[in-house]
Amino acid sequence: MLNFAEILNNEETLDPQDWQGLRQLGHQMVDDMMDFLQSVKERPIWEKTAEETKAFLQHDLPEQPQNVEEIYKEFTQYILPFPKGNIHPRFWSWVQGTGTAFGMLADMLASGMNPNVAIGDHAAMYVENQVIEWSKQMLGYPASASGILLSGGSMANITGLTVARNYAANVRAQGLKAFPQMVLYCSSETHSCNLKAAEVLGLGAEAVRKIPVNEQFQIRISDLRQAIEQDLATGLFPFCVIGNAGTVNTAAIDDLDAIAEICKEFNLWFHVDGAFGALAKLTDEYAKPLKAIEIADSVAFDFHKWMYVNYEVGCLLVKDREKHRAAFAYSPNYLTIHERGLAAGPESLNNYGLELSRGFKALKVWMSLKEHGIDKYRRLIRQNIAQCFYLASLIEKTENLELMAPVSMNIVCYRFNPGGMSEEELNALNKEILMQLQEQGIAAPSSTILNGNYVIRVANTNHRSTKADFETLVAATVQLGKNFLQHSQPLQDL
Ligand SMILES: *Cc1c(COP(=O)(O)O)cnc(C)c1O
Repeated sequence: MLNFAEILNNEETLDPQDWQGLRQLGHQMVDDMMDFLQSVKERPIWEKTAEETKAFLQHDLPEQPQNVEEIYKEFTQYILPFPKGNIHPRFWSWVQGTGTAFGMLADMLASGMNPNVAIGDHAAMYVENQVIEWSKQMLGYPASASGILLSGGSMANITGLTVARNYAANVRAQGLKAFPQMVLYCSSETHSCNLKAAEVLGLGAEAVRKIPVNEQFQIRISDLRQAIEQDLATGLFPFCVIGNAGTVNTAAIDDLDAIAEICKEFNLWFHVDGAFGALAKLTDEYAKPLKAIEIADSVAFDFHKWMYVNYEVGCLLVKDREKHRAAFAYSPNYLTIHERGLAAGPESLNNYGLELSRGFKALKVWMSLKEHGIDKYRRLIRQNIAQCFYLASLIEKTENLELMAPVSMNIVCYRFNPGGMSEEELNALNKEILMQLQEQGIAAPSSTILNGNYVIRVANTNHRSTKADFETLVAATVQLGKNFLQHSQPLQDL
C-alpha cells in the first residue's frame, strides 16, 4: 500500500537544485552551438558515426541521476560530432532544410514556455493563427481559408487528403464500405507519403492511379482525363487529384491549371503537394505556373524545407474552413469551450487535424519571418534556383558529365559518363562516386532512378550554399570518376 504520508513529507520536483549552475551551463551551450553553426563550413560535411558513439548509445536505462555537466560533455563528445550534414553548405540530399541560428533560439524559447498548443486562451494559439494567416498571404490563398501546422509535408498531405475523402463521402459516420471504391489520381512522380496516405485512409494502394508523365516529368493531362472517365464508367468513385508543385525527383511542376479544370469538370477535390515547390510562388518567375494553388481545395507545404526553418514544421491550408473542420472536429466533455477563463480563446486547433497535444512549432516560424522579412526568403529561393541553373550549365560544359533531367527549378540530376560503358556499369560507377563524395566529406547529393538510370541528384533548399560549392561538386565528381576508371576495379563487384 502506498505510504502517502511519507511520500508527501519528501516531495520532489524535476526543477534544478542548482539554478545558478544550470544557468551557466545553458550559457555555455548557447556559446558552443553558435560556434558550431558559425564554423560549419570548415568541417567535413559528414562522417560515419563512430563505433564509440554507437556503443555509448547502447547503455542500460539510467537508474541513478547523473550530473548535468557530465551529460552535456557526453553530448559534445559522442553526439554533436556526428550531425546529418544538412546544416552544411554542400548538403543537397533528398529535400532537406538547413535551419538557422535564430530558429534554434526560438525552439529554446518555445520549449521553455512549453505550451500544449491544442486548446485554450494563451499566446501560442494566437501565434499559430498568425502564422497560418501569413501562410495564406505567402501563397495568395483566400483569407477565409483555414490551416494547421503539422510535423511536415507527409502529415500535411495525409491531413489534406483526409479532408478530401471525408468531404466526398460521409466516411466519418459510415466508413468506406458504404461507398463505391474511392479513387485518387496523381502522377507517377508523386511523393510516396501520398501513397502511404491512401493506404492509411483505407483506399488501398490499388485505388491510386499513378498517371504517366511527359518528358518534363509532368502528369499527362489526357491520360488523367481518360483514367477518370474509365473509372466513372466502371462505377468507381473518383474523388481527388493531387497536383505536384515540385516533384521530389526533379522538381517538376504539373500543369496545375489543367488539373484544376479537370477537378472542376468532374467535381473532384484538388489537392496540391507543394512540400517545397509551393514556396517558389513567392518569386515573380514561378508565380504563374504555381498560380493555380490559389484555387486548390487544399495545399501542403513545409517550412522546414524551402523556408529553412528548423525541424520540424509543415503546413496544410484548406480553402473551405467548414470542410476542414467537418473532417476532424469533436467536442468531448473534457474539451468544452467556455465563455471565459483558460478554456475560452480561439477555436481548438485539434478540430483541424488528428493530433491533440501539439508543440509550439509556430514560434520559430513567426520569429524567423520577422527576423528576415518575406523578401529575404524570396531572394534566397531565387538564389537556390539560380544556383541550380548554374550547376546545370557547369554540367553541360564539363566533359564526361551529363544532365539526366530538364532543370525546372531547384533540383539537378546528372551523372558521370565517360562513354563506352554499359548502363549497368554506369549505374554502379555513379553510385560509387556518390558514396565517395559523402564518405570523403566533400558534398552530399543523394540519388534517384530516372528512366531506369541511376543519377546523382542535387536538391537545393540550402541558404548556406554558394556558387563555389557547386563548382567543388562538379570538380569532385569528375575527379572521383576519373580516379575510379584509372584504378579500374571490376564494376560488378561494387
Ligand atoms: C519532402 C516531401 C514530402 C514529405 O514532406 P516531409 O516534410 O518530409 O514529411 C512530400 N512531398 C514532396 C514533394 C516532398 O519533397
